[in-house]
Amino acid sequence: MKKILLIISLIVSASALFAQADKESSPLDNVSISYLDKSFSVYDKLQKTIWSDPELGFLETKSSALLQNHLKSNGFTVEAGVAGMPTAFVASYGSGHPVIAVLAEFDALPGLSQDTVPYRKPLVEGGAGHGCGHNAFGVGAAAGAVAIAQWLNAEKHTGTIKVFGTPAEEGGGGKVYMVRDGLFKDVDIVLDWHPATGNGVTTGTGTAIQMVDYSFYGIATHAAGSPDKGRSALDGVEALNYMVNLLREHVPTSSRIHYVISNGGEAPNVVPDYARVSYYIRSPKREILKELVAWIGQAAEGAALGTQTKVKSEIISGFYERLNNRKLSELVQRNLEIVGGVHYDARERAFAEEIAKGLNKDISALEEVKSVKPLADEKPSTGGGSSDVGDISWVVPTVSFNTATFVPGSAGHSWQNVAVGGTTIGTKSLINTAKVFSLSAIALYTNPELVKEIKEEFEKRRGADFKYEPLLGDRKPALDYRVKR
Ligand SMILES: [Zn+2]
Ligand SMILES: [Zn+2]
Repeated sequence: MKKILLIISLIVSASALFAQADKESSPLDNVSISYLDKSFSVYDKLQKTIWSDPELGFLETKSSALLQNHLKSNGFTVEAGVAGMPTAFVASYGSGHPVIAVLAEFDALPGLSQDTVPYRKPLVEGGAGHGCGHNAFGVGAAAGAVAIAQWLNAEKHTGTIKVFGTPAEEGGGGKVYMVRDGLFKDVDIVLDWHPATGNGVTTGTGTAIQMVDYSFYGIATHAAGSPDKGRSALDGVEALNYMVNLLREHVPTSSRIHYVISNGGEAPNVVPDYARVSYYIRSPKREILKELVAWIGQAAEGAALGTQTKVKSEIISGFYERLNNRKLSELVQRNLEIVGGVHYDARERAFAEEIAKGLNKDISALEEVKSVKPLADEKPSTGGGSSDVGDISWVVPTVSFNTATFVPGSAGHSWQNVAVGGTTIGTKSLINTAKVFSLSAIALYTNPELVKEIKEEFEKRRGADFKYEPLLGDRKPALDYRVKR
């Protein structure tokens, strides 16, 4: 009997030992992850509060304050109103290196107000909405940072976690002013994410961009009574646009040039003495972008000359293309795979199915949200969008990844994205993101050699003679760019 007991107790203690070993080997067994697992409702509420009161670029007073207050109440010190932007902030926790930073965006888009229903239903006619998921974006960053702070505290580990509250991503370029002001100087690594329709690491470089307004000045007159007395500012705009549409044939095909006439005059019987056209000019290489902008500037001068008007140009904003870091991408890929995809419950699934059906998508496309895409090779971009994360990626090694906040098949900046991002699907996605942030930060804090290798790759890729020159020059933040002019 004694023998049997001994054997049993040996088996029990051996299996306990295996269980222990099993537990210790799971990267998900740490205070960060358990904090996030038990804080779903906290972050669900926070993201929905920001979602419910969408604020446009540089006007995100309440959204920024909500994130700042949450970070403060979790032990972070917060410096607000940095780099000349009232809604920008830097929150810090811990001490010493490595300093790891996460980025928090929180601006909404005009005209995209939408209820959390799977059909078009604005909450406020013509109102703003979170069509780019920045409600989840900012809260995911805050959740990750708090979880990382909990780990630093529990382990009494050296290292700092910072949250950069970066306003006005949608056209205002808040991050660029923060880079220009040197706020990233002591940061070793930046971890960044963006809501998307799937889970994966970003390997594209996107495009560098300059946003330029060309304002034409003419002479107003009665368009029928005394047209010879006037000079039309709108003619200046049209002549410029015509020339740009001709030069398109002769620029590298990866270039992107688009415009809207943001002021075309008031009435056909008044020759406009003021007109404005707003251009976005992009290229995967900022050297080529600079040449394009110079050419369009010449076209603007020519247009003014030929229409006897005057023209002034103003760079509204400008971003670098992205500089990737393979070592850092591989680290985040590993952690994304550990965390896994987004798993809908029955209610979420039904909601997502309705959205997918509305887009004429096969519902089998929804399976994509459950898995993580393999890490793609880096290829030079052939066009595509731009982000102010680009500038950061040239001053600090940076990685960006996506988790599945939106329904596969949805377009960017769509009402579908507003609808889904404001539900628990958005929260699940941001919690996954926060877990990836946590696992990646812990790996970096505990592996100085890895940090060193990432930095070496960064230095090598950007080149020894690199000097940061912002593409928006020395202009002040366009704090009123979303205020109707
Ligand atoms: Zn966005
Ligand atoms: Zn966007």
